[in-house]
Amino acid sequence: MSNHPHINSKEPHIGYFSSRLREADPKIDAAICSELSRQRNQIELIASENLVSRAVLDAQGSILTNKTVEGYPGHRYYGGAEYVDEIERIAIARAKLLFKCKFANVQPHSGSQANQAVYLSLLQPGQRILGMALDAGGHLSHGAKANLSGRWFDIAHYGVSRENGRIDYDFAAEQAFEHRPELIIAGGSAYSRKLDFSKFRKIADSIGARLMVDMAHFAGLVAAGEYPDPLPYADVVTTTTYKSLRGVRGGLVLTNDSDIAAKVDNAVFPGLQGTPLLHSLAAKAVCLGEALKPEFSTYCRQVVANARALSETLVNQGLDVVSGGTDTALMLVDLRSKGLTGNIVAESLERACLTCNKNKIPFDTESARITSGLRLSSAVGTTRGFGIAEFDKIGQIIGAVIDGLARDPDQNNEMEEWARSAVLDICERFPIYPDL
Ligand SMILES: *Cc1c(COP(=O)(O)O)cnc(C)c1O
Repeated sequence: MSNHPHINSKEPHIGYFSSRLREADPKIDAAICSELSRQRNQIELIASENLVSRAVLDAQGSILTNKTVEGYPGHRYYGGAEYVDEIERIAIARAKLLFKCKFANVQPHSGSQANQAVYLSLLQPGQRILGMALDAGGHLSHGAKANLSGRWFDIAHYGVSRENGRIDYDFAAEQAFEHRPELIIAGGSAYSRKLDFSKFRKIADSIGARLMVDMAHFAGLVAAGEYPDPLPYADVVTTTTYKSLRGVRGGLVLTNDSDIAAKVDNAVFPGLQGTPLLHSLAAKAVCLGEALKPEFSTYCRQVVANARALSETLVNQGLDVVSGGTDTALMLVDLRSKGLTGNIVAESLERACLTCNKNKIPFDTESARITSGLRLSSAVGTTRGFGIAEFDKIGQIIGAVIDGLARDPDQNNEMEEWARSAVLDICERFPIYPDL
């Protein structure tokens, strides 16, 4: 019982610590509830998403959000860090074990910030980066004009071959020789095939450049042994934790080089960030723990098998898939043979409760707002429990919606309605978050 003079009624005080969101802020609560039902009743095909476990959600929504610390475990600027030190040490140990590397920084707030930390560690403004072109599947943070990376560094690009949609390593080597970058980046957001890290290493060595691999999309597959391991080849590896790794929003930087590790630690704090998001950091530790379990390998194997099934069904329906298929969770559909653009198709699919994104395809002549492609992924559906049969069905639904649009791009209501009920049927068989 408190005798503090400034607390004259215990009611408001207790309400502050006990009222749930639905009482305290019904507007925001209602929007979150609507988002939950959207997630329940739509099939999510966006490649940069996944569904976290209830345990990860618990950690993310925990009181760790209250704590401020700066620095690293054992060397914090603020007191009271005993338990968050323990959490961060566990997260680091799990990241190192999972990716078989010597050093891990688990503090980056996002994948972009993990990349920035590497740039701050290894480059001076004005130095040169060689990265994958955006329309070949690269990422904004690898040197897009509008991004800090493109404004502070001089950017050269490599891309994919027109013939087979796969990385043109000869061209990458020529670009490296001509532009002499300090840093080469392998990895992207819309490239569906395995990268040949030894080829990137050779190119980097031929000009004395460093090699960074951004495995944001395929980190989970690397952890599960379903994708080549970049760590033996790269000087430094970055990733997000919320795509195929199936955890919370955030980033990691991994390396086996002690000099780079020390520079990255300094770059993350105090170079770029203040306090890490400790609730996210705890949730990262939980998801890394999940990824160390055998069930996660089973999940990743199914992700790849499901993506392959979806891509085969799409090809059988007369659609073109860039590079003819996929080795990962994601694929790029080329819509030009149907005379359609990505924006029109993505909107029609969304009305049919299939969420995905329009995406540029290699050598796209359409703008980023229109595009000639769609990017699809099996990662979220596989988390729900979808197997080959469900992804085959999803491929048939997508094919039917696209054929409806090809017949009449202005009027696809009937097909969308049929698709919506087929989608709901699948969703109801695979419920998510039953106690929310
Ligand atoms: C998603 C992604 C990122 C960035 O992630 P944010 O967390 O959104 O900053 C970085 N690199 C690649 C290749 C990505 O796909």
